[in-house]
Amino acid sequence: MVNDTVPSSPRNAELSMQRDAAELLYKNSFAGILISAIASSALVFGFDSPEYSFFQHVWFSIISLVLVIRFWDSLHWHKYLSGTEFNGQRATHRFVSGTLVTAVLWCIYVVTMYAHVEIIELACMIVVVSAMAGGSATVLAAHRLTAMAYVFALLVPFSIGMLLSEQDYQNILGMLGLSFSIVMIVASKKASDFTVQAIHLKHENIALVNHMEEQVALRTQEIYELSNIDALTGLFNRSAFLNEAKLQLEQADTKHEYLALLFIDLDGFKKVNDSIGHATGDQVLVQASIRLQEEAPDNHLLCRWGGDEFLLMLANMDEDEVVAKAESMIARISEPYEIDTNRISIGATIGVAFYPEHARNEIELIQLADTAMYSQKKKTPSSVGIFSDVLGYKISREQKLKVRLTDAIEKNEFRLVYQPIIDTKKQTVFAFEALLRWQLDDETIAPDEFICIAEQYGQIRKIGAWVLKEACLATKRWQDRDPKFLNIGVSINVSVIQMQEENFTSIVQDALTESGLHAGYVYLEITESIFANDMDKMFQQVTALQNMGVKVSIDDFGTGYSSLSVMQDLAVNLVKIDQSFIQKIESNGRSIVNAVMDISDGLGFKVVAEGVETPEQMAQLVSLGVNYLQGFHLARPLEERDISNYLDSI
Ligand code: C2E
Ligand code: MG
Ligand code: MG
Repeated sequence: MVNDTVPSSPRNAELSMQRDAAELLYKNSFAGILISAIASSALVFGFDSPEYSFFQHVWFSIISLVLVIRFWDSLHWHKYLSGTEFNGQRATHRFVSGTLVTAVLWCIYVVTMYAHVEIIELACMIVVVSAMAGGSATVLAAHRLTAMAYVFALLVPFSIGMLLSEQDYQNILGMLGLSFSIVMIVASKKASDFTVQAIHLKHENIALVNHMEEQVALRTQEIYELSNIDALTGLFNRSAFLNEAKLQLEQADTKHEYLALLFIDLDGFKKVNDSIGHATGDQVLVQASIRLQEEAPDNHLLCRWGGDEFLLMLANMDEDEVVAKAESMIARISEPYEIDTNRISIGATIGVAFYPEHARNEIELIQLADTAMYSQKKKTPSSVGIFSDVLGYKISREQKLKVRLTDAIEKNEFRLVYQPIIDTKKQTVFAFEALLRWQLDDETIAPDEFICIAEQYGQIRKIGAWVLKEACLATKRWQDRDPKFLNIGVSINVSVIQMQEENFTSIVQDALTESGLHAGYVYLEITESIFANDMDKMFQQVTALQNMGVKVSIDDFGTGYSSLSVMQDLAVNLVKIDQSFIQKIESNGRSIVNAVMDISDGLGFKVVAEGVETPEQMAQLVSLGVNYLQGFHLARPLEERDISNYLDSI
């Protein structure tokens, strides 16, 4: 059976079964037609019956015409309909009509002729119709009524005729024929039932297989979604994105195209999650992902990379186009979100890296876009940053320093240098500022480069504690060794992160105890950035330090967050005016220094001018009454071994 097309509905299954039945009938049609043609020719032309010759010839012409039409119909079916979605019911009707007409013609022939033929011819007629009736049981099995009617038409009237004949032997043949007819009709019915059932079974199997295939397809889809789709946003997840991105990179290689990867990170999302709740956070993510999808060009590859991070791949857009697209995405993401009764605002920072310009594979491309995003977020959140080689160098250097910082203390790579702070009136050294140096292989790395890395990766506490102890030990060592060091203090830089430590005061106390240095010689330099933190905690910390006898300086004054009221409450001991104002002392720097000097008396702090580089600057600062001076004009930071000589030289 060719008709194995997949029936997807009961109606389709019905049509398919009708086609199967027609197919079975037509596949055997040539044999049936041929047998009829041979049998009719043999009976008409094989025996000589002059009285019935006219009837025989007319009958033969009619049956020949019918057989030709049936032959043509079968030919047409085999050539044009077989294997197609033909109308099975119509084809069966055509076939059945032709077969039944043939059966009726045979019936007419035998009923007309049996009484007038010799016994030999009668025997031949009986053999022919019996054989044809026997064959029809299987050949016509696909159509039960036709199979039964065919047997009936061929045998029953003929047998009844013989049964009613006056000839005894014909009565016997009639009886036999009738019995044979009954058996054949029953056999035809059974064969038909079997065939029809087989067709039904076949279709039930097809339906079953289809159902199983549907189930398998459904499960496959479920598994695909579980492993490729982000459940919250419906976007691709990490693994699906990586697979697709790999393909896009391969395509870009063959087509010599270029790709841009956008690393999109929401700004302020954590705050939404923490303050309003995760359910609202989820809704923001869903809405943000919809906006991104709307903004992205057709056939885009977009995924939720994790948390509040999304990735978008853009093909064949130059840098200006990518930036324009990224900016419009940021604008769209930054529109307010109305969720329940809340009106929520977030932003997004986007980092971009290009393939093949920047990266060799998708993993690297994502990393670089992430790097560009991260660096951009630190500089200017809610804007677009493009990866560059300079940025790449910066990042790889940062990574190297971060790794090497972890055991720099153990490897003795740190040392302190000391820059004198001069008392303007006495012209003596008031204190040395301890400045950290890092000897990494052949390179001396300045603190401006590595302190922020140490702060970022949590190494500053350990390093800061080392500096504190080392500076206290050195100062005490000098004081013990040489009386000229007596009354010279040490100024130690302290990071905000150290100040936030609960046990910072005990770390300072440990350094003092271990070194034996008197607390009154120690000045801790804190920057104004501590005022951006929890003010109460910072006040407590500063007060606790001062209660220990340690003095506190504000470093780089004027560059950060200080306000007069804060200065008043904090009661710091020293204020170090940032070198940028000293460099501009001829212009507006002077008024800043003046203002600080004005309040210093009232608030009870002394003033240090940092970065004094010229005699003119020094003269101006002296005339303004600044208490202490520090800068290259007076002395550069000194190695420990040079300090004693320096003191002798002034
Ligand atoms: P700072 O505390 O303001 O230190 C003064 C910086 O200015 C020092 O740079 C010093 O060498 C430089 N300087 C001194 N006089 C002049 C001058 O006349 N002209 C110019 N242009 N610069 C001058 P340095 O040693 O590179 O330190 C930079 C910064 O690194 C320090 O600024 C401080 O914030 C930080 N730092 C240094 N050591 C430590 C440390 O042990 N711990 C912490 N947390 N930070 C440190
Ligand atoms: Mg300092
Ligand atoms: Mg400073």
